[in-house]
Amino acid sequence: MQLRYAFRLYPDAGQRTALARAFGCARVVFNDAVRAREDARKAGRPFPTAGQLSRKLITEAKRTKERSWLGEVSAVVLQQSLRDAEAAYRNFFSSLNGTRKGPRTGPPRFKSRKDARQSVRFTANARWSITGSGRLSLPKIGAVKVKWSRMLPAAPTSVTVVMDAVGRYFASFVIDTDPVADRARMPETDRTIGIDLGLTHFAVLSTGEKIGSPRFLRRAEKKLKKAQRELSRKQKGSRNRAKARLKVARAHAKVADARREFHHQLSTRLISENQGIAVEDLSVAGLARTRLAKSVHDAGWSSFISMLTYKAARYGRTLVKIGRFTPTSQTCCTCGAVDGPKPLDVREWTCAACGAVHDRDVNAAINVKTAAGLAVSACGAPVRPGAVPAQREETGSHGFPTGNRAA
Ligand SMILES: [Zn+2]
Repeated sequence: MQLRYAFRLYPDAGQRTALARAFGCARVVFNDAVRAREDARKAGRPFPTAGQLSRKLITEAKRTKERSWLGEVSAVVLQQSLRDAEAAYRNFFSSLNGTRKGPRTGPPRFKSRKDARQSVRFTANARWSITGSGRLSLPKIGAVKVKWSRMLPAAPTSVTVVMDAVGRYFASFVIDTDPVADRARMPETDRTIGIDLGLTHFAVLSTGEKIGSPRFLRRAEKKLKKAQRELSRKQKGSRNRAKARLKVARAHAKVADARREFHHQLSTRLISENQGIAVEDLSVAGLARTRLAKSVHDAGWSSFISMLTYKAARYGRTLVKIGRFTPTSQTCCTCGAVDGPKPLDVREWTCAACGAVHDRDVNAAINVKTAAGLAVSACGAPVRPGAVPAQREETGSHGFPTGNRAA
C-alpha cells in the first residue's frame, strides 16, 4: 500500500527562485502537452504518443529560443509533468466511458501561474536525496530545510514539492508500507465499535463516548472567524483589505491543517482500539438530505471516513459502511422497535415498546454497529461482518436484528 507523508519545507530565497522556475517549466510542458493533443483532436489526427511528446516538447524544445530555459530545470521534473498530463487524459477518458468511479472528471485544463497549488514531482531516478543533516536535496534546486514533524516509516519512492495558496512549501513523500511492521504496530483485538455522526459532537461512539472538536481546532476556527470579520470591515480596493484577505487565507489554511490533524489522531485511535468499525456512509450522492443539521459536517465527515478506510486497509481492520437510509436514530437499540422519526431537538427518548431510555446519538451509534453486523451476540462471540450487508433502504418494522445489544 502506498501512503503520502507531507512535511513543511523552508527554502531560502535562491531555492524559492529555483522552485518557481521548476513550477513554471513543469506548467509549460504540461500545457504544451494538452495543446498538442487538442490540436491533434481538432485536426482529426491520432493523438501523439508519449515518446513523440517527450521528444518534441522537451528534447527538441530545449534547442529552440522560445523554450531554451527548459534546460535550467531537472529533466525528470519535465518528464513527470508529461506523465501527469497523460494520466489526466486517461482519467478523463475512463470517466467518460464509465470505467472510473466517482464524480465525472473533466478534460485536463491548462495550468496557470495563478493556480492555488503549484507542484513538481521528483521520482526515484531524479537523484534527489535526504542529506545527513536532514535536508531535502533536489536536483538544480539545492538542499532545502525540512521540518520533520514525524518519522518516515520507510524510504520514500518519490517526492512532490508543493507550494500552496498562501506561499507555504511542502514535501509530499510516497512510501510503500511494510505489512509486517504494520501488523506488529497494531495487533489484533476483538473489540468493535459503531460511530454516529453526532448532532452536537463530531462523532458519538456506541460505547457512549462523545467526541467534540479538540481545543486546537476550535481556536483555529475562532481566529478564522475573527479574520473574516475584519476583512468584511475593510474598504474595497484598499491595501488594508488585501492584507486582511491574506490573513483570512492563512487562517483558512490553519483550520484545514488542524482539522486534518484531528481526523488523523481520532482515526488512528479508533483503528488501533478496534478490529471492526462501523460508520454511516454519507457519500451516497443525490440522496435527499433528511438530516439537515448533519449535512453541515458532511465535508469533514467524508475526509475522516477516507482516513478510516485507508487505515483499516493498512492495519487489517474491517470497516463497514452502512447506507444513509438505515433508520439508526429511529430504532430502539434494545428491542429493535422502530419508533418513527424524531425532531432534531429531541436529545433523549423513551422506547414505547420496551421502555428503554436512549440518548439519541449513542442509540444511533449502537444501531450503526448492529446494522454493520459488528455486534457481539448473546454468547459473547463476535459476529463477523460480511454476513449482514449494508442496508440500503428502510425496511418495515424490523430494520435490525433484535436482542444483540452492543457490548
Ligand atoms: Zn425498545
